Amino acid sequence: MTDFKETTLDKDIDFDNIPYWDVVIIGAGPAGLAASLTTAHRRLTTLVIEAKDRPGGQPQFLYAEKRIVDIPGFPDGITGAELSARVFRQALDAQIQFHFEEELVAIEDTDQIEKEDPLKRVVTNNGSYLCRKVIIAVGLLHFPRKLPVLDAIQSKKVYYKTPKIGDYDGQRVVVVGGGDSALDAAVMILERNGHVEQIIREDVPLGKADSLARVSNSGGVLHTDCEIATAEFAGDMIALKLTNGQTVNCDMIVVQIGFLSAKDTFKRLEVRLKADGSMAVDSYYETSRNGIFAVGDVHGDIKLITVAWAEGIQAAIYAFKEITSPYWLNEKRLRDQRITLISEKISQAAERKKPL
Ligand SMILES: Cc1cc2nc3c(=O)[nH]c(=O)nc-3n(C[C@H](O)[C@H](O)[C@H](O)COP(=O)(O)OP(=O)(O)OC[C@H]3O[C@@H](n4cnc5c(N)ncnc54)[C@H](O)[C@@H]3O)c2cc1C
Repeated sequence: MTDFKETTLDKDIDFDNIPYWDVVIIGAGPAGLAASLTTAHRRLTTLVIEAKDRPGGQPQFLYAEKRIVDIPGFPDGITGAELSARVFRQALDAQIQFHFEEELVAIEDTDQIEKEDPLKRVVTNNGSYLCRKVIIAVGLLHFPRKLPVLDAIQSKKVYYKTPKIGDYDGQRVVVVGGGDSALDAAVMILERNGHVEQIIREDVPLGKADSLARVSNSGGVLHTDCEIATAEFAGDMIALKLTNGQTVNCDMIVVQIGFLSAKDTFKRLEVRLKADGSMAVDSYYETSRNGIFAVGDVHGDIKLITVAWAEGIQAAIYAFKEITSPYWLNEKRLRDQRITLISEKISQAAERKKPL
């Protein structure tokens, strides 16, 4: 039923001197790691370029200690840090090569042809790499949206990610934001004996209703339809004045109000973007540039680890098929077009046969 047969790369490959990589993957988050396992398990030489000093992406850097409970097979949940470490170990065993603290700058077309496939040059801030296929899995680039009113007080107690578990005990914490990430943070803090006051700009929070109910049922106080107007130190605490006139004093503030878009990097890659600035891909996860795939949060509507995994795996298999059979994707597209044309003709014929 599938082409899957796990094989491994030879142990004695001299990765420092290969003329080109089969696949270069940008980003070592869930999507990039899943894609890399899939290509390496099909004996494709795979290089992963990651801007940070470690793999894992958002689960590692934004919620390392949160217990993730929606991954099948982990009935007791698994932390972001443990999940990242497990996948990374698997990747090292599969001989995937990693370059950390290196950032993608551009992807150039070249005149060099390998098995009828034009090679690409991936340019980073530290070098360049020839390859046959590129899989972009850079997520949201991790630039959390900031609140200037809080940055102005330059407090170490203002966090743009969830701080360590032990930090909440008995603390008065203000959580800013009404989306799923903010509600998740509030629930986690409440479960760890923190007191939460949540400041939500919208009248009706954007996050899931059940998360909202968990915040309220666990004693969290919601301030909706208001924002932080001013912030200042009050002894060891921070005093916030809200736009509705209320004052809230707290020990720390956790801000979860989304991320800045990665439009600038995307523009440099010269791929087609959707109206919301995310990358446009076809049903094979290929961008508007042949041989360049994009998976995970960079384009998806559903931002979940399992979805990022699934997309990474699918794109990797499409890349593999193209490498082993250069015209596979074109043939597949033609077949899809023919199926669409045939089904259009069938429905037109059925319309004509309908009694008047
Ligand atoms: C607070 C929070 C809680 C969440 N909780 C859950 C949950 O419980 N369950 C769930 O399924 N999902 C959850 N998610 C969503 C999930 O984490 C994401 O959907 C998933 O991480 C997307 O994976 P990705 O690989 O596409 O991107 P990312 O995880 O963002 O990884 C992208 C990687 O690319 C790297 N990168 C970026 N730019 C460059 C560049 N120019 N060059 C090289 N490398 C680059 C980044 O450093 C990063 O390591 C949560 C998200 C947040 C923010």
